[in-house]
Amino acid sequence: MDSSSEAHGRHKCAACFRQFNRMEHLVEHMRTARHSSHDPRCLVCLKHCRSFEALRDHLGAGGSSLPKAAHCATVFAARGCSLCLGVFPSAARHSEHYHAECKQSRTPTISISMSRLHITSSSHRGGGGGGGALALGCKMVGAGSDGSLDVCARVCLVDERENVVYETFVKPPIPVTQYRYERTGIRPEHLRGGAGVVATVKQAQERVQELLRVRTSGGRGRAMLLVGHGLDHDLAALGFDYPAHLKRDTAQYPPLMKTSKLSNSLKFLTYTYLGYEIQTGHQHPYEDCVAAMRLYQRMRAQRHRRGEGDAAADGAFHQAPSADSNAFPAWRQRELERMTPEELLQLSTPDYYCWCLDG
Ligand SMILES: [Zn+2]
Ligand SMILES: [Zn+2]
Ligand SMILES: [Zn+2]
Ligand SMILES: [Zn+2]
Repeated sequence: MDSSSEAHGRHKCAACFRQFNRMEHLVEHMRTARHSSHDPRCLVCLKHCRSFEALRDHLGAGGSSLPKAAHCATVFAARGCSLCLGVFPSAARHSEHYHAECKQSRTPTISISMSRLHITSSSHRGGGGGGGALALGCKMVGAGSDGSLDVCARVCLVDERENVVYETFVKPPIPVTQYRYERTGIRPEHLRGGAGVVATVKQAQERVQELLRVRTSGGRGRAMLLVGHGLDHDLAALGFDYPAHLKRDTAQYPPLMKTSKLSNSLKFLTYTYLGYEIQTGHQHPYEDCVAAMRLYQRMRAQRHRRGEGDAAADGAFHQAPSADSNAFPAWRQRELERMTPEELLQLSTPDYYCWCLDG
């Protein structure tokens, strides 16, 4: 680079505000940072963050840590929402939003009589992603000599209105050595019941697969989106897989993950972003299904400016892009170095599929 551009001072990333002495270093940063309009943002200073956790740290939300930005933290403490991290014009407007729009009520306790109702697939609501979404949850008991092998003993499938679409105990194919009663509430007699009450793994698998297929009036099949937390673990226990581009996993969605790129627990996400406790005492998978569905719907409802790169998102863009992909595959370094930081940000695309694109 010529010295004149250095004379103008440092080059500041338009998203995360990091500063670089040389424009080429900002371009390098932009290639790998994958900033986009889909990032969680501070509504005080407009800084982009990698995840909601990073944004919470920036704002000092919930006293999680010493706020990284003192001014933003002061404004946030006065009129920011600790759940969605929104900032409102006044404390009164914030309070109204928190109670009326943001804080979710606890999942109603599912009664066995309700869970035995067979709600037909006609109750599925159409929505984003073609056929709408169903949330899956399984409760595992232990097998193997030390009881550490997870096997599915109860499965639940919930639609977008929190109706139970399918719910059953499942008889594990191998002997159960640890019922984990304090958490699951499952006793040996639950898995012994007569026909129709306890399914085999095969029967549960087929029913779930059947419910995920939507028949349209033209007779053509359409697949539903599958929502859950740690879906691969649940699907492995049921013995089938589901296409990656139709999975919406709250354990794998980057904005809901830790800065360390590890998953958060569903219990933590529900408390932190929906405002209520789950998984206290005996746990029904219905509660997990509802929590995952509410988190999904909240992420889907985000209003993000659609970027140019999103056009590719509909079909081929899956949730696991290759690690070496960069934000500007079609551009030359020299062309990028002539752009302003704002222009670079406009062109930059995220390395994951944002759920707002389902909306
Ligand atoms: Zn940046
Ligand atoms: Zn988005
Ligand atoms: Zn800020
Ligand atoms: Zn809120």
